Amino acid sequence: MSAVVELRDVSKTYPGGVTALDGVSLTAGAGELVAIVGPSGSGKSTMLHLLGTLDRPSAGTVLVEGTQVSRLTDRRLSALRARRIGFVFQQFHLAAGVTALDNVADGLLYGGAPAAERRRRARLALDRVGLGHRLGHRPHQLSGGERQRVAIARAVVGEPALLLADEPTGALDSASGAGVLDLLSELSGGGTTVVLITHDRDIAALLPRQVRMRDGRIVHDDAMAEATR
Ligand code: ADP
Repeated sequence: MSAVVELRDVSKTYPGGVTALDGVSLTAGAGELVAIVGPSGSGKSTMLHLLGTLDRPSAGTVLVEGTQVSRLTDRRLSALRARRIGFVFQQFHLAAGVTALDNVADGLLYGGAPAAERRRRARLALDRVGLGHRLGHRPHQLSGGERQRVAIARAVVGEPALLLADEPTGALDSASGAGVLDLLSELSGGGTTVVLITHDRDIAALLPRQVRMRDGRIVHDDAMAEATR
């Protein structure tokens, strides 16, 4: 299996001296769906930031599709992030007053495609998340579950290799949350690597691979348990 994203013995100490990650190694391959689960303060967000190349580690190596992140200039790193990594957040972070279609089309701004092409691809992405009938709706006209689907469409419209989701069901009722998990599962079935963080063990238990964190360390990884079985 070639890794889409890999942490090798990664540590992160914040200024002030908090060690949020302490020698963490993790590999996720194409099409994997991984839940990072752990209590508040266990280092999940820090790990997601490092996987997403939004922050650099204090020690250790981060690789995205085989490229060592520390070797890239900020400019190349931004390009890698824009083209290969999508992000989804608990609070959706959609632009208010902007239609679903244009919220998703904006996910392609970095590539410099013309507006008509961005909209064409946005329409396809919204179809894919089951919102082809809501193109002209603005965020306040959509349910929470629909907003998260728009946010997911925006994150994947550029066909990233890696989709990172920060508590994507945290603001949703359980039925909408289950729908969003199904959608993430479908995307991983299509080959996108999906890593989500959650403090909710019940949600993590629904996903094929759980990585459990405590005090900045991985205390369990289903992939490792499988390998040693
Ligand atoms: P989680 O996402 O599991 O709640 P975090 O990764 O946010 O955990 O935090 C891990 C630890 O690092 C916590 O003790 C937190 O207070 C600390 N921490 C997180 N971000 C920062 C920061 N920017 N500066 C200093 N300490 C931080």
